[in-house]
Amino acid sequence: MAMTGEQQQGLGWPVTMQPGQAGLGWPRSDEPEGPGAAMSEVDAGDAEAILDPGSYVQADDAEDAPQVEEAVVSGVLRAIGTAIFFESDAPGQAGASARSEAVPVTPKGVEADTSLLLEMKSETPASRIQAPPGPKRARFDVPEAGESPAPGGETPVPGVTPEQASQEAAKAKKNAEEGVERKSLPSPDETRIIVVANQKGGVGKTTTAVNLAAGLAMGGLKVLVVDLDPQGNASTALGIDHESGTPGTYEVLIDGATIAEHAQLSEEAPNLMVLPATIDLAAAEIELVSTVAREGRLAKALRTYLKTHDIDYVFVDCPPSLGLLTLNGLVAAREILVPIQCEYYALEGVSQLVNTINLVKGELNDELQLSTVLLTMFDARTRLAAQVTDEVRAHFAEETLHTVIPRSVRISEAPSYGQTVLTYHPESVGAVCYLRAAEEIALRGANKENER
Ligand code: ADP
Ligand code: MG
Repeated sequence: MAMTGEQQQGLGWPVTMQPGQAGLGWPRSDEPEGPGAAMSEVDAGDAEAILDPGSYVQADDAEDAPQVEEAVVSGVLRAIGTAIFFESDAPGQAGASARSEAVPVTPKGVEADTSLLLEMKSETPASRIQAPPGPKRARFDVPEAGESPAPGGETPVPGVTPEQASQEAAKAKKNAEEGVERKSLPSPDETRIIVVANQKGGVGKTTTAVNLAAGLAMGGLKVLVVDLDPQGNASTALGIDHESGTPGTYEVLIDGATIAEHAQLSEEAPNLMVLPATIDLAAAEIELVSTVAREGRLAKALRTYLKTHDIDYVFVDCPPSLGLLTLNGLVAAREILVPIQCEYYALEGVSQLVNTINLVKGELNDELQLSTVLLTMFDARTRLAAQVTDEVRAHFAEETLHTVIPRSVRISEAPSYGQTVLTYHPESVGAVCYLRAAEEIALRGANKENER
């Protein structure tokens, strides 16, 4: 991938950065380094000062006033940098994402990250992130615990009785075998752009994005999935090739390519388009720093795409880090869907996420709202799962979907075959629940319009 001089400058950020210039929450070069030094000076009051609403320039106008835009975006990033930390679910992935609150990022850390990214780009990174090579392996049809004799029979999920689960599963299986289209879901009046976000890694963001997208597409709706994660897990799960060099999100964000040029049709469902992500996107996080209107590039590309493409739902799958990639997702979207894992610490950080949303909402995207919470990886055998469910419902009474996604081996196996669970094991409880969740989202969208 040839880089322009401007992009190379972006990669060389530590050299081109001037002392005192606002950055990604990293300390200025004339300030002390070390844990605590970077973040301690950026408190809420400071963030407010940086984010003086009077100085805010809309993304569209930002090309005329890059310096003001720089201050605003840097402000948001600095402020959220203090509030949010992101876990990475696999060590070494995407270089820059494996951070914790206790270890603020210093310029030194940035250099290390950059070199890691470059190293990842040059040394056949495909081997690190690709789906299993070769043709799809034969799937092993050993019944999952709780799947037999009736799916869901032994692993009750709130809101789904065993009888309902087995009936729906039998129907889903029959439909899948006969190639019958699923029942039509109502389309929203205007495109719903939903970013799937949670600062924790491994909570089911990608799984949720791809299965809901496929579920809605199977219901006759037109869906686009934007993979914003350099790991490309959403692309894998939707059977889209994403080895290094495959054009996709990187080209849209950095080269100004259109989504229409690089979106691919997924075989998982009719009318399901995917803008794939490759490991090259890891470098975009750094390259975007020196780019004009850097936080609004996805929003702009989406606006252009939606002018000429009739799409009902857009799902944006974010990486487990809050850098410019995720910020692009938050600025492009109207709604946030937060998957919450029914485990310890499920709610830890959710209030921080809400603060982040409010910051972005106030400064960069007025329309953004946390519209949907989905409980994932529910394990009926633990009392903890039920407790977490209650707690989440108490906090997000309106937003939480009735449908809960159970922990299911089928769900976790599906991506290794380049499939969603909806086609991999349509009769599994996991598939039935994701279909129900997709239906609930579609009906809520339609009802909201009727209420207006
Ligand atoms: P994130 O995108 O938030 O990092 P993923 O969707 O990649 O999370 O999920 C993390 C891991 O958990 C993956 O291996 C995925 O297959 C698995 N997983 C997700 N949802 C479930 C579920 N309901 N039951 C079992 N495994 C799941
Ligand atoms: Mg993911």
